[in-house]
Amino acid sequence: WADQLDLKVIERTRELAKVVEDLARVNEKLDRLNQLDELTHLYNRRAFNQRSVQLLAQCRRELRPLSVLLLDVDHFKQVNDRYGHLVGDECLRRVANLIRERVTRPQDFVARFGGEEFVVVLYDTHLDGALHVAERVRSEVQQMNMRWEDRSIPLTISIGVCGGVPEAWHEVEHFTGCADQALYRAKSEGRNRVVPGELSIVKAARD
Ligand code: GH3
Ligand code: MG
Ligand code: MG
Repeated sequence: WADQLDLKVIERTRELAKVVEDLARVNEKLDRLNQLDELTHLYNRRAFNQRSVQLLAQCRRELRPLSVLLLDVDHFKQVNDRYGHLVGDECLRRVANLIRERVTRPQDFVARFGGEEFVVVLYDTHLDGALHVAERVRSEVQQMNMRWEDRSIPLTISIGVCGGVPEAWHEVEHFTGCADQALYRAKSEGRNRVVPGELSIVKAARD
């Protein structure tokens, strides 16, 4: 009967290995789902937090520039008020898809930063290149021609951009903070525009 016991142990071990393997697969899937925003299927804020720290560290190591774009839909509260929340949701999905299509390099990524705000992180990209990407997205959103029933919904976005080679003391917040200041200026200067931020100002404030 010792042989039979051996066989049983082998069989059980196999079963267990399969359960562990299945669990690992489910875990992987959960991890992926945990990183995604339900409405737009872009990365969510949590994924942004993880990935941006990694990409910043990589750029710092490799002495490469990193750029961060903060994009905010203009007067979006009015869109919800006029056309309803569901149409508002559809607008966010359309804008999200458009941004995703314009951010194509494997290391780059797009996330939903909050309500009607998105963030783009561009690897090995100087401010000039990032402004280019931003301007393209801005102009394409303006031309998007979002329709609801027989009405056309005018949509525009404002974008703050920050870029530079990260120094030792830089954290992601310096980049997002700088982009946010620029976004604030884009709003106050009339919206539907791209404004560059100054990483060096962040530095000056610290010195
Ligand atoms: P501004 O040009 O200054 O950005 O004006 P705004 O109206 O876009 O800014 P505000 O911050 O006043 O309003 C943002 C709006 O976005 C209010 C909120 O209800 C809406 N919003 C946030 N998340 C969602 C969402 O998931 N779906 C929809 N439909 N609306 C959302
Ligand atoms: Mg906003
Ligand atoms: Mg807004």
